[in-house]
Amino acid sequence: MAGLVFYTGVHHPNWLWDLEFDAFVSHRRLVGRSLRGLRKARRRFAIDSGGFTEVSQFGGWRTTPEDYVTSVRAYTARLGRPDFIAPQDWMCEPFIIRRTGLSVAEHQRRTVANYLRLRELAPDLPIIPVVQGWQLGDYLRCVDLYARAGVDLADAPLVGLGSVCRRQSTDEIAQVVTTLAAGGLGLHGFGVKTAGLALYGDHLVSADSMAWSFRARRSPALPGCVTHRNCANCPRYAAQWRDNVLTGLRHRQTRPWQMSFLDLPNQGVAR
Ligand SMILES: [Zn+2]
Repeated sequence: MAGLVFYTGVHHPNWLWDLEFDAFVSHRRLVGRSLRGLRKARRRFAIDSGGFTEVSQFGGWRTTPEDYVTSVRAYTARLGRPDFIAPQDWMCEPFIIRRTGLSVAEHQRRTVANYLRLRELAPDLPIIPVVQGWQLGDYLRCVDLYARAGVDLADAPLVGLGSVCRRQSTDEIAQVVTTLAAGGLGLHGFGVKTAGLALYGDHLVSADSMAWSFRARRSPALPGCVTHRNCANCPRYAAQWRDNVLTGLRHRQTRPWQMSFLDLPNQGVAR
């Protein structure tokens, strides 16, 4: 666990240069903004493609790989180099599959094709492959799809693990994570719950979460927060939550109960 990098999901790009924590920010929060308003990030950060929002809203990707690469290049020239950039992958939650009218296999095929295309367009950017699926067997088939396309995921510095953030069962995800990690994959867990981190965090290289904001939205503002009714957009709340997560991770062997209060059922980062 000592090596796990934890990125706090943030809504506002200015948190990258105003605040002191490793952050995960969506392309959707950056695209279309004035580039002149962007400053260099203080800490390490990573960029999400915002796929969940785009695919669930429109039933597919509207942003072309070309546009995605052009945008990412423009804002990372100002922000600095991110640790990694998520591809335009296709999530495999059952309701997303119903939304697109396609199949898990087709979502996987498109996910792999998109990664290959992005890599072709921008070999210089740290765009990572993502394994998509729902059941363990799906994920293993996705690893095979990459292999057949000439991409050995065990050689990749980091591989995103898709379709985990909206599940109830952390045991199911733990099985996927431990199996893939045993196969030599260095995994990033998208929107991993803190209970999940306690269970299988040892097998992840990094993880992100925006659970703090969902939690804050349902709670009164912190004492001393007088300018807002709740802390869903509050850096102070986010920082406290993050410190609790990191403390929980450090002590999880001896005090695993600490993790439970940090989680909300069925919430993940808004990808
Ligand atoms: Zn607050």
